[in-house]
Amino acid sequence: MKKMILYGICLLLTSCGAGGAGVNSGSEGDVNARFDGYKNRFIEGLWKIYPGWASSQGYHKYDDVLVIVTGQEREKEADFASDNLDSLRLFGLKGLTDNNKTDYRMIENQLRGALWAINDEKAWEWNPSIYNVSGGFADILNGTYDSLNVRLHHFYARLKAVPDYYKAAKKNIRNPTVEHTQLAIEQNLGGVSVFEKELEEALDKSGWSNEEKKKMRKRSEEAVKAIKNFTEWLKKLPNETPRSFRLGKELYAKKFEYDIQSGYTIDQIYDKAMAHKAELHKKMYELADKLWEKYMGASELKPTNRLVEIKSVIDKISLNHVQPDSFQTAIEQQLPVLIQFIKDKDLIYIDPSKPLVVRREPDYMAGVAGASISAPGPYDKNGNTYYNVGSLSGWDKEKAESYLREYNTYILQILNIHEAIPGHYTQLVYSNQSPSLIKSLFGNNAMIEGWAVYAERMMLEAGYGSPSTGSRQANSTGSGQASDEMWLMYYKWNLRSTCNTILDYSVHTKNMSKEDALNLLINEAFQQKTEAENKWRRVSVTQVQLCCYFTGFTEIYDFREEMKKKLGDKFNLKQFHEKFLSYGSAPVKYIKELMLAEMNETKK
Ligand code: ZN
Ligand code: ZN
Repeated sequence: MKKMILYGICLLLTSCGAGGAGVNSGSEGDVNARFDGYKNRFIEGLWKIYPGWASSQGYHKYDDVLVIVTGQEREKEADFASDNLDSLRLFGLKGLTDNNKTDYRMIENQLRGALWAINDEKAWEWNPSIYNVSGGFADILNGTYDSLNVRLHHFYARLKAVPDYYKAAKKNIRNPTVEHTQLAIEQNLGGVSVFEKELEEALDKSGWSNEEKKKMRKRSEEAVKAIKNFTEWLKKLPNETPRSFRLGKELYAKKFEYDIQSGYTIDQIYDKAMAHKAELHKKMYELADKLWEKYMGASELKPTNRLVEIKSVIDKISLNHVQPDSFQTAIEQQLPVLIQFIKDKDLIYIDPSKPLVVRREPDYMAGVAGASISAPGPYDKNGNTYYNVGSLSGWDKEKAESYLREYNTYILQILNIHEAIPGHYTQLVYSNQSPSLIKSLFGNNAMIEGWAVYAERMMLEAGYGSPSTGSRQANSTGSGQASDEMWLMYYKWNLRSTCNTILDYSVHTKNMSKEDALNLLINEAFQQKTEAENKWRRVSVTQVQLCCYFTGFTEIYDFREEMKKKLGDKFNLKQFHEKFLSYGSAPVKYIKELMLAEMNETKK
């Protein structure tokens, strides 16, 4: 902490020496070089305060440290934030490059958010599930960054602090919510296997002597005892008037501000989501009505309830799906089709030298199915980016069938657009071109998810999913319009993120009941009961997170429409996409600000 304070003074002196004109009075190169230096020192300091976060990002210098969350520790964290906010203020934004400007804003937001979390949100008091050591220990065992022997030594050193860690946790917890208490009990007990099973397997493979193993086991037993003791304590905790899991309007608005960093307020986003839902229902009804005869037959009577009519048609179209054993190949075969389509339509440049490595999902991810992107962490630049594709082998028939109907022929293509091209994977390739450790660490989720959700819409608007898209005979990427079926299924998919936002805000600030929540998800968003139940569980233990998809999507979409209007004939979709992505994973509002500034600059 002393270092940070000294650094602040040092900057002050520099600024005085420059005649009080501020530290940025040197040439722009100087300012940016100094700011780069500052960023490096900032991150070094950050890892000292948050060693667990450091390890998870691939920075392993502090793997043997487990932070015991005491009041003193919180003070240290708050000091770090305040000191760095001071340092930032001394820099100011003037003279910084666009990359540094956005980094500046993101650091500032991170630090303000940290202070708010400590002083106002206070999840450390009411959310017992934030106290759980098993994940960090599991990462050490599963890591590949160093030899097993070295990793086990870190594991051993770190273990020592576990009993004190839970002692401090008990001291912090006051009036917790029932839901987070329950979650803490389940997750902590679930994590015990790391010490009882996974550690044993690692010890077996290690060259450790029996003496060393004995020492490790002794510490590990103490740790398990502390974990179990913590869960017992939680079970018996007298808590007659538990805090509500609902965050409440004031805290929610702030959390939204720090986590999403949107140009809109949450109230604006909520209104937009409600209007968007109504619009989707209207469009879906028109399509379902048009498709009714084709799928339901001429003699089948239409239901009087429009939502029921939509659902009947969706259910029929969902029967169009791949077989379990061709799930993976279906996903793989779509990638070249997507790339060709994007080229033909001139939507965005796809760098052919960075092909996506498709792989069968590794065992530790098994059971999730679907598809996901694994990108290398910021400290592992040369690592591959993988497209993990799940397999349904071993699934029972009923489960596989229900899953395949959900990820039917149409949704599977939208999933590929979202996860891979031109969604997450493409965005990642662009963001790696403007390397910023700050953006890798504090990358804005609303921008990242928003881009992937925007990409789905943009592809369909360009005509992807027309009846001839990807038809192998014609080797064509299709022409004309996406089919009615494709649009209908897309709208259903888009309803999910729209309703996630409505759900999250309503539950946390408008007291929405579980019954109303399930009604929204099942009857208005056409979800299966299990999916809806899981979503209810998720919304009762998280806050704001569910809003990032719709918020980011809306901001990007609105911004694009604004640019279209401003530029008229001169608007070029490909240029817009490439420019937009060139700023890295920064919040949309800052990208927008910089793009508009540059446009005005060229006009002059
Ligand atoms: Zn089937
Ligand atoms: Zn995503």
